[in-house]
Amino acid sequence: MGHLGGDTGVIVLDGVRVRDDHRLGDVGRGLAVAMDGVNAGRMGMAASCLGLARWALDQAVDYAKVRKTFGVPIAEHQAIQLMLADSAMDIYAAKTMIQNCAWRLDSGHAATAQVSMVKAFSTEMLGRVMDRSIQIHGGMGLTNELRLEEGYRFARVMRIPDGTGEIQRRTIARQLLTGQADL
Ligand SMILES: Cc1cc2nc3c(=O)[nH]c(=O)nc-3n(C[C@H](O)[C@H](O)[C@H](O)COP(=O)(O)OP(=O)(O)OC[C@H]3O[C@@H](n4cnc5c(N)ncnc54)[C@H](O)[C@@H]3O)c2cc1C
Repeated sequence: MGHLGGDTGVIVLDGVRVRDDHRLGDVGRGLAVAMDGVNAGRMGMAASCLGLARWALDQAVDYAKVRKTFGVPIAEHQAIQLMLADSAMDIYAAKTMIQNCAWRLDSGHAATAQVSMVKAFSTEMLGRVMDRSIQIHGGMGLTNELRLEEGYRFARVMRIPDGTGEIQRRTIARQLLTGQADL
């Protein structure tokens, strides 16, 4: 779902030997090296969600200006404006979180809790923004003509790979409870 054609498979490593000069990091520190890669993946995923959310909001703004009901563009209905504003707030929050977290990673600050917050928030934010954008488009939002339904399915996927929302919250809570969250 949402990943048609994605090359998802299983890799099994059994008795593999790696030359010392091909080893990444110190012996016994493999998980830390792997987690660095996971951090990068989570940030990339969050940034993708931000870009897609921005696209979905732009679509909704454009459509709200041209689609008329009750004699006026739907953009003039307060109910539509509230959805647009909620999506703008969601996007700005995600953008700011991603930028701050990227700065923390680049400058060598601890960012375990922050990366989890960014991943969970941005992927869930995209779901909310996509949902509102479809709602603003009415029946057109459900067609495959505008690709919003494709974005909606993609958004649903993003909450699972690279750590589910529950696992991100588990990480955040553990960092908080051990005094390492550094908010
Ligand atoms: C499109 C796609 C691409 C992927 N790419 C990769 C990849 O490149 N590399 C890779 O290694 N994996 C990849 N995965 C696997 C992905 O990381 C896992 O699917 C994901 O981490 C969830 O693990 P799971 O499917 O085993 O679910 P489970 O761990 O079985 O979780 C099932 C449910 O239980 C919840 N849960 C589990 N443990 C807890 C807990 N302690 N507390 C509360 N709730 C909990 C989960 O949040 C979820 O709701 C990919 C998955 C998808 C869908």
